[in-house]
Amino acid sequence: MTHRILILGGTTEARQLAGKLAARADISVTLSLAGRTESPVAQGVPVRTGGFGGADGLADYLRKEHTDLLIDATHPYAAQISTNAAQAARMAGVPILALRRPGWEPVEDDRWTQVDTSGEAAQALGPAPRRVFLALGRQEVASFEAAPQHHYLIRSVDPVEPKLAVPDAVYLLARGPFREAEERALLEKHRIDVVVSKNSGGKATYGKIAAARALGLDVVMVQRPALPDVPSAETVEALAVMVDHFVEPAAERGV
Ligand code: NAP
Repeated sequence: MTHRILILGGTTEARQLAGKLAARADISVTLSLAGRTESPVAQGVPVRTGGFGGADGLADYLRKEHTDLLIDATHPYAAQISTNAAQAARMAGVPILALRRPGWEPVEDDRWTQVDTSGEAAQALGPAPRRVFLALGRQEVASFEAAPQHHYLIRSVDPVEPKLAVPDAVYLLARGPFREAEERALLEKHRIDVVVSKNSGGKATYGKIAAARALGLDVVMVQRPALPDVPSAETVEALAVMVDHFVEPAAERGV
């Protein structure tokens, strides 16, 4: 019997999980991308692209494709699709698992200010002009138009269009992972004094946080949104084990 699994992706872990599961003969995997990135990296498994049309649309898709298991492996800040996924799974009667990468915790010498939204992050920079590194998505950087007194270094995977309506911004296109030594060199070259970041968790983008700590810089950390409570694992390996249990119930595994 082939188990049909839909993975909601857009993250490195989703791609890794899809590759791992696709190697199994008894699993057929489809990876779903929102289609935000203009040239996404090759995923190595069948991909479908674009929104489903809310929770209803996703529930229809699950029924139509006879999906046996839905896996939410989207980014921790992609709260809408995670909410839709939990709701659609309930509506279609399809089991759901989630890959929930743990967030970073502040450690000694970190100088974090924690805020809930990118709008609050712009406020938290204060009135005096600062040199700010924005390592946020294209969707969030617009909030910083409310604080035009700062110099901004803005890094994104795709170009920020339209450009921010602020007088002093430099744009950098790059895709992670970013190592600490490179991040430190970047922060020094641009004489940055504060880093604005999401609490993405994982190693791929932690370099800037470690570099900020080493340089004694402030970090404004945008906290994670609340996500639905569904059975989850923190790593690709742990989630793959949960999938094994789903595909081969305990009795079949001889447990
Ligand atoms: P979002 O606000 O939670 O989702 C907005 C809408 O985009 C959803 O309602 C859904 O449209 C569509 N969508 C999102 N993820 C999808 C997926 N994997 N497959 C099909 N449709 C999807 O999400 P977002 O913050 O815009 O993020 C979009 C994608 O980028 C996600 O896949 C996420 O994993 C990835 N990503 C996000 C971030 C971030 O910081 N937010 C960072 C890195 C990667 P419908 O309602 O029409 O179905």
